[in-house]
Amino acid sequence: MKACNSCGKCCIKYSDGGLAASDADIEGWALFNPDIHRFVKNGEIWMDPATGESIKRCPWLTLQPAKGKNTQALYTCDIYRDRPEDCRHYPTSIEEMRRDECEMIEVRDLRDPKKAQRDLDKLMSDSRPPLG
Ligand code: SF4
Ligand code: SF4
Repeated sequence: MKACNSCGKCCIKYSDGGLAASDADIEGWALFNPDIHRFVKNGEIWMDPATGESIKRCPWLTLQPAKGKNTQALYTCDIYRDRPEDCRHYPTSIEEMRRDECEMIEVRDLRDPKKAQRDLDKLMSDSRPPLG
């Protein structure tokens, strides 16, 4: 299992109507982060504050240009410390990573998905309960 390389695939895929925030996230934003809370409507994220419609691309996803010849552009999250529960919990399973072509996954993880799940759970232990 490699470290996340900020390829942005997960954010791009799930921010098109596939993300949920917990009630605690939404209450916290309402109290302390009104700029984030503006993008919530009827408990759903991310909604355009002007039109009330769902936004296709997460408004907090920023592409940082490559800094040199041998580097690649990276995606960063502008609200990383306050990101919603779904984002904090990702990646959750090896199957999900395989399906999403997450770049953390290695060939040996696919050969032994049970061990890979344990490794992933350990890696994510500060963010979510274990799955495996
Ligand atoms: S809130 Fe942050 S982590 Fe979640 S989809 Fe947007 S950019 Fe990605
Ligand atoms: S798809 Fe995987 S490697 Fe790419 S940003 Fe998401 S967690 Fe990181």
